Amino acid sequence: MTAEAVYRFVPHTIQHVPEGGIVCEAFCVAHGCDAESGPQGDPDATLDWCLRHTGRTGHDLFRRAFSDHARVTRDS
Ligand SMILES: [Zn+2]
Repeated sequence: MTAEAVYRFVPHTIQHVPEGGIVCEAFCVAHGCDAESGPQGDPDATLDWCLRHTGRTGHDLFRRAFSDHARVTRDS
């Protein structure tokens, strides 16, 4: 008896899914400061965090990261 692997190409598609929402996060880039907003489901909440951080510290430059969601589906 022999075992034989069979490989075949199965096409898939990846697409943005709006129901996953957008996740936004801000990082203070001032020297020596490692403050982060943490992931926020509402981009406006991230902006508010930046404004509050600037008000408390005077730090005024942030790196922002936005992420969306994507789903892979098997093509029929
Ligand atoms: Zn800072």
